[in-house]
Amino acid sequence: MLAIERREYILNRLRKEGRVQVRELSQELGVSHMTIHRDLDYLVSVDDRVKKVFGGAILDRPYQPEPGKCAMCGKPVPSRTGVSLQTASGQRLEACCPHCALLLVESRGDVVSGMATDYILERVVNLKSAVFLLESDVVVCCTPSVLCFEDEDHARRFQQGFGGQIADLEEAKKQVVFHMTLS
Ligand SMILES: [Zn+2]
Ligand SMILES: [Zn+2]
Repeated sequence: MLAIERREYILNRLRKEGRVQVRELSQELGVSHMTIHRDLDYLVSVDDRVKKVFGGAILDRPYQPEPGKCAMCGKPVPSRTGVSLQTASGQRLEACCPHCALLLVESRGDVVSGMATDYILERVVNLKSAVFLLESDVVVCCTPSVLCFEDEDHARRFQQGFGGQIADLEEAKKQVVFHMTLS
């Protein structure tokens, strides 16, 4: 495959999915990570909507808020796990679950606040003070599963039954991005 074909392919994926991963592309196209990085650098230089992020790139298209759809993956937003994010410019973004919310926060860099739903109490909890349970056996939406709790004691008791790893916002963000880069 020629470089130009590869770049076209990557751009199409970006248009369709909004983001691409270096690891994934390198496997699909059978070329090295270096080659993909060079392709992404090229795309960034010719199209200012393409932005490199950790482990890949995103297409920063003018966001058309689709009510009830996740701004990261496009899935419908369930009330039980939905997260509402606010950007610096006052835009409101919805995510289907804390997993997508964390990826949005990390990839956009302009999210100033977020409200998640406590998985047990089903009431609003601030993302910044929430306790996250990663990779428990309860997969309600995206994988790796991320659940939000207001109360650390609740999270710990839930963990006793369903496993997983407890984290604060910073740690949870790191873990999710790390997983997405490896998968
Ligand atoms: Zn999503
Ligand atoms: Zn989700």
